[in-house]
Amino acid sequence: MRTDIGRLTKDWDEINSVVPYGVGIVGRICQTLFEKVDLNIPFVIDRDPQKQNTTWMGAPVISFEEAKEKLQGYKIVVMTGHDAYGHISTFLEEQGLEEFKDFCNVGQFMSDWFWSAKRMNCVFHVDMTITTRCTLNCRNCNLFIPYHKEKLDFSFEELKKSIDLFFERVDFVTYFGLIGGETFLHPELTKYIQYLGEHYRDQIGRITVVTNGTVSPTDELLDAIKKYEMYLSVSDYTDVVPYGEKMDRFIDRVREKDIDYARNDSIVWTDFGFPEHPVKRTPEELEYHLDSCRPNWNALHGGRFYYCNVSWCAEQSGRFRLQPEDYLELERIDPDDKEACREIVKLSRGTSSFCRICGGCGKDNTNYVKTGVQM
Ligand code: SF4
Ligand code: SF4
Repeated sequence: MRTDIGRLTKDWDEINSVVPYGVGIVGRICQTLFEKVDLNIPFVIDRDPQKQNTTWMGAPVISFEEAKEKLQGYKIVVMTGHDAYGHISTFLEEQGLEEFKDFCNVGQFMSDWFWSAKRMNCVFHVDMTITTRCTLNCRNCNLFIPYHKEKLDFSFEELKKSIDLFFERVDFVTYFGLIGGETFLHPELTKYIQYLGEHYRDQIGRITVVTNGTVSPTDELLDAIKKYEMYLSVSDYTDVVPYGEKMDRFIDRVREKDIDYARNDSIVWTDFGFPEHPVKRTPEELEYHLDSCRPNWNALHGGRFYYCNVSWCAEQSGRFRLQPEDYLELERIDPDDKEACREIVKLSRGTSSFCRICGGCGKDNTNYVKTGVQM
């Protein structure tokens, strides 16, 4: 299996201090994990002048120019999303620093350093599709919802079994997403959130519930989201679909409950091609594509751990068959054998056979489409 774990140079094993780069959303999510280990943070770098002169985990936030003088002997962990990391790594290389020797992204740090230094198996981002039913029918849905032959809610018992198996084998997940379809259509969502919050909250940095805002949730559901400090990611398609008033009312309720949320109305979409016109690539194009699309949004379903949730959705649609190396049967991994559990981390930074025909979200996919257009 192709995986990018183990890329850090050997001297990372000895360090107990790092300099984080970026104190945005990813930084906030990673904080819980950093607090769990005895990691010294002398200072933090951020290019945003508004963040400089603040602190992060008690350390001063300073500009790169100021940090440059003090970097000797420290390694940098870049705490940003996939796209921003590309820009920052180019900038750091221009400053004479080398990737995996002098700096790396936080996903790599979690997979490699937390294992070598702390014997912890950490995974960066896992999604669970709890229902494939949806109120919308978006032509370019990257979970291919309009094309699923069968639409269903996954039962509480099935979801529970998967997370129990997973968290017995993995120490920490930075980002855990509950996604759909439309999550608020799931009749047992409140019960599931309560179970997840009650049993695994301290093994997860941020739990995000994704909704399109078309379904009015019960107070009980919103209260559970608030209680376990979950985050609501609201995909706003009101520019294309006329439900603006409903969306505004929903956002008012979320604010009244003081829930942490984001209303995302400018998400850039690309055409993934599947299933109507799957991408054809030469072996060279595929190599470039595999390096380019590394969203690392792993998936958990039916007691299995998958490299990519998009690939799971392709199979779930009934129009693609994954290969056995695309997933792990969690029950077959001894939870007491840390080395065996490491296979999960390896796959978390692997690839999928579906990548071969999937447009993906890397820089090689420039087939931009209008967001939220309905079938
Ligand atoms: S609302 Fe989301 S899940 Fe539903 S069809 Fe559109 S993109 Fe897919
Ligand atoms: S190209 Fe591969 S990694 Fe990227 S979204 Fe598609 S299946 Fe996932």
